[in-house]
Amino acid sequence: MNDSSNVMSDLFDLPSFLGEFSLAAAARGFSRHLLLETEDGPILAWERLGEAPPIYLSAGIHGDEPAGPLAALRLMEEGAFPTDRHCIVCPALNPGGLVLQTRANRRGADLNRDYNILSCQETIAHTRWLSSRPVPSLFISLHEDWETAGFYFYEINLGEDNVRRATDLLSAVSAHFPAELGPGIDGHLLRGPGWIFHRAEPDLPDSWPEAIWMAKRGCSLSFTFETPSKAALKDRVAAHVDGSLALLDRLPKAFTETDSMDGVGFMPLCGS
Ligand SMILES: [Zn+2]
Repeated sequence: MNDSSNVMSDLFDLPSFLGEFSLAAAARGFSRHLLLETEDGPILAWERLGEAPPIYLSAGIHGDEPAGPLAALRLMEEGAFPTDRHCIVCPALNPGGLVLQTRANRRGADLNRDYNILSCQETIAHTRWLSSRPVPSLFISLHEDWETAGFYFYEINLGEDNVRRATDLLSAVSAHFPAELGPGIDGHLLRGPGWIFHRAEPDLPDSWPEAIWMAKRGCSLSFTFETPSKAALKDRVAAHVDGSLALLDRLPKAFTETDSMDGVGFMPLCGS
């Protein structure tokens, strides 16, 4: 079976991963772009041209969160990215962290807090390359959390509200994990179980994650998934895959549909 099972280990092997990703992406017609060569390996982006605006997925910016890169690989292998849209995938944004299996890069910097200051070579190279591309209309960012037992996600939405999309996403993931219950997660109030509806502003003014940089660039819709690190890796990967598919499979409907908030049973928005 052609899947990611031979790199499905808690010990993340970056060279093997990049080799497998290159093969899978080439088979799907993606071209490879070298963003930066680091001492631990390259930062690579894969791109397949199509109708703009692009769909963009990133993973592996925290090196101790291997489920995201492995899910990106499986999505690529399964042909999950829409063939008529411009698609961009950056599956392993922190080579040093992935090699060392640390959240930070080799120099101790949390890359996902560096997108305003841009003090790291990784974030500089990444933003420079992304800035040469059209602004995505959908950004999916794959992460993990050591402190939770369920799944949750952040949504940043500068356009139409869509409750059904969020409930469909949680429903797709529910085969693997329940939605993390509140009242709060990581200092944020929940809009509903597992759902942080985040404004397009950073929690700390000088520590932007990639999702805030994307929103400031004009990306109107982003989802950051968080799977529970303490659970089995295969379940975390499956949750990321099924959550991503729930968003990708509803394209382009996702950008035109507006669902009523009435009767869905979610708590009112409390803020974030
Ligand atoms: Zn993370």
